[in-house]
Amino acid sequence: MENVFDLSKEGASKIYVKGTMPGVSVGMKKVSLGNKNDILLYDTTGPYTEEKYQINVHKGLPHIKKTWAEERIAKYGSNKTQLWFARQGIITPEMEYVAIRENQGNNDPETMITPEMVRDEIAAGRAILPSNMKHPEAEPMIIGNKFLVKINANIGNSALGSSIEEEVEKALWAIKWGADTVMDLSTGKDIHKTREAILRNTPVPIGTVPMYQALEKVNGRVEDLTWEVYYDTLVEQCEQGVDYFTIHAGILQEHVPAALKRVTGIVSRGGSIMAKWMSINKKENFLYTHFEEICELLKRYDVAFSLGDGLRPGCIADANDEAQFGELKVLGELAEISWKHDVQVIIEGPGHVPMHMIRENMEKQIEWCHGAPFYTLGPLVSDIGAGYDHITSAIGGAMIGWMGTSMLCYVTTKEHLALPNKEDVREGVVTFKLAAHAADLAKGHPGAANRDLEMSKARYDMRWNDQFNLSFDPERARRMHFEMIGSGADHCSMCGPHFCAMKITKSI
Ligand code: SF4
Repeated sequence: MENVFDLSKEGASKIYVKGTMPGVSVGMKKVSLGNKNDILLYDTTGPYTEEKYQINVHKGLPHIKKTWAEERIAKYGSNKTQLWFARQGIITPEMEYVAIRENQGNNDPETMITPEMVRDEIAAGRAILPSNMKHPEAEPMIIGNKFLVKINANIGNSALGSSIEEEVEKALWAIKWGADTVMDLSTGKDIHKTREAILRNTPVPIGTVPMYQALEKVNGRVEDLTWEVYYDTLVEQCEQGVDYFTIHAGILQEHVPAALKRVTGIVSRGGSIMAKWMSINKKENFLYTHFEEICELLKRYDVAFSLGDGLRPGCIADANDEAQFGELKVLGELAEISWKHDVQVIIEGPGHVPMHMIRENMEKQIEWCHGAPFYTLGPLVSDIGAGYDHITSAIGGAMIGWMGTSMLCYVTTKEHLALPNKEDVREGVVTFKLAAHAADLAKGHPGAANRDLEMSKARYDMRWNDQFNLSFDPERARRMHFEMIGSGADHCSMCGPHFCAMKITKSI
């Protein structure tokens, strides 16, 4: 597999910041700048960016969390989640790890994020630290509105193409550009093997929608789906190490009539499958009726719920309607039940929502879901972006991130059109890193503005390499600049040598 992780091409190196607890050593990207103001950046690439790291997909990644989990089980017994520890007032090594990671070198006592703050946010249900004990390869990270806005990249094969190797390559490609979590949404053949390869080789939490595999097990026949098949699938994926599950437990029989009157009906795959199952069987959603059993299972592994929005609006005309908000209220009830079992939970959100209707989504989610982190798909602020839906969704993502959403699910240029390829993944991830970073700036996340300040100084000083290396896509920025101009220029080809405004300013 091609090694795409060479930091030396970005004027950067991998460094580790040690914590006070055993084994806590947080990898960061150190960018060396021409003005000597070296900067530490959040890094999602795990050991891949270590100078001498040899990629071996058959061996997999080192197990950085294994000892922590084993020692905890020996001391406190099994069935204990990060939420349980937080509620006991205990700071785990994972909590110290994410505090260091979030600070990105900021050590101002007034603004820095502390392990105590991480613990308290988890205890209050306002943040989660996804940590399936069977996924020791994943580096700890936190999702919550007091922390950096995170982004998820979806990968996965479909019945129409792509191999296991391609999917692992896509996962690594997504983390290279900054994906904080990866969801494996495979629906085609070899689901189990594909997921295994992704889990063993990806240093970020992995999410799935277990319904997809459950449906494959009954050959795609919704009428043959049963709670037993679904539960077996959950056990299989818990054992493999999936860190969070999208579970569409909030869509109920009473919501379906309103959804069927919409312009685009039900656009969530999981939501449409459950709605069809309920209509065939004339029974309530088995994910809702068996919810406490799911909690008991997830608690054993510390798998988090990502409560699915099966009724998210699929177009502007359907935004914020009765079906969507009816389901959101149920998701709030389910969040309280999962907390009762010490299971961590986030809530999924829309979808297609015009800008003036986004705030209502955030306000209702905070109120009805009691502060549980919100995880939204965009939202897309218009329906007519075909070929450019990474942009329609990043606009909504930046807005809702600013208002309090904790994680954004990326959308690629191919949304609504086709399965994304590698270049689509890169563009989608970078676009959403920008949306998330814009939200971090607006929320005043400590440390977020430093990168912008250094970029601006580099721009004014015409330090081109520093400008490239401080961007989210140094390779692209470098290529674009040099397409029309040689190195060492005191201007760029946009205004040209005689009209460079910054050059003129400096001469005043
Ligand atoms: S030429 Fe124009 S765009 Fe380029 S650096 Fe100067 S002011 Fe900026």
